Amino acid sequence: MEYKCFICKNIFDSFRNLKIHVIRAHNNGQCPLCGKETKNLSMHSKMMAKSDPWHLVLSCILTECDYINDDEIKRMMINLVKIVLVESVPLDIISKEEN
Ligand SMILES: [Zn+2]
Ligand SMILES: [Zn+2]
Repeated sequence: MEYKCFICKNIFDSFRNLKIHVIRAHNNGQCPLCGKETKNLSMHSKMMAKSDPWHLVLSCILTECDYINDDEIKRMMINLVKIVLVESVPLDIISKEEN
């Protein structure tokens, strides 16, 4: 299965490799999604996840949804994120539907 980085469109053969890529390539003091300066991208994306689904996807890649206590929901969430990445849903689709 191929996982496409939803930020730069690079393709990875595993979720773990994608995670390592995002940490190395997109964790440089600035959020790749909203451009906000942040020292802790996983913390930032987790905070923003409530209002923006792409931050939720980002936080799930970075933390593997570690902060979700319910194992069942955690598993479902990771599967959902994987589907989004494998299908490579365009970045603007979800935010458009919000309006
Ligand atoms: Zn990338
Ligand atoms: Zn952000």
